[in-house]
Amino acid sequence: MAKREFKCIVCEKPEDQCTCQKFCALCYSDYRVRLTEDGQFYCGDCREACDYRTQEQA
Ligand SMILES: [Zn+2]
Ligand SMILES: [Zn+2]
Repeated sequence: MAKREFKCIVCEKPEDQCTCQKFCALCYSDYRVRLTEDGQFYCGDCREACDYRTQEQA
């Protein structure tokens, strides 16, 4: 399966170029927030709870 680049749903840029204010789409925490497959940012706890992956884990 080809690896595709995750892009921010708001600015359509990859995580390292995204300058949006980053907070978890579920709980609004900004702790360990990372971009996931669906183009939204989630905190560490929510990513673990929902099994969302970051770019490197995909
Ligand atoms: Zn962005
Ligand atoms: Zn969260």
